[in-house]
Amino acid sequence: MGQDFGIFLISDSMPGMDPGLCANCRHVKALGNARGSVFYMCTLAERDSRFLRYPPLPVRSCDGYERASSAPTPANKEEGPPPK
Ligand code: SF4
Repeated sequence: MGQDFGIFLISDSMPGMDPGLCANCRHVKALGNARGSVFYMCTLAERDSRFLRYPPLPVRSCDGYERASSAPTPANKEEGPPPK
């Protein structure tokens, strides 16, 4: 199980912030909320302890990176940060 060291997000208040490799990785799940924030959750963390559920952004190097066929879009609209 991965360790969490915080929640990292990209929001409207951080225009141009680059999530790095997570932006187009097949293992990311982008979670949006009503305030326009987007959280990048690494789904590999559920089964591999080398990965953090919410990796520090931007991710510049990652052994688990696999390019997705399309960029992730926020799938869920939730209030507040996602559960750890
Ligand atoms: S495998 Fe790496 S690049 Fe892909 S979502 Fe997880 S942390 Fe981001």
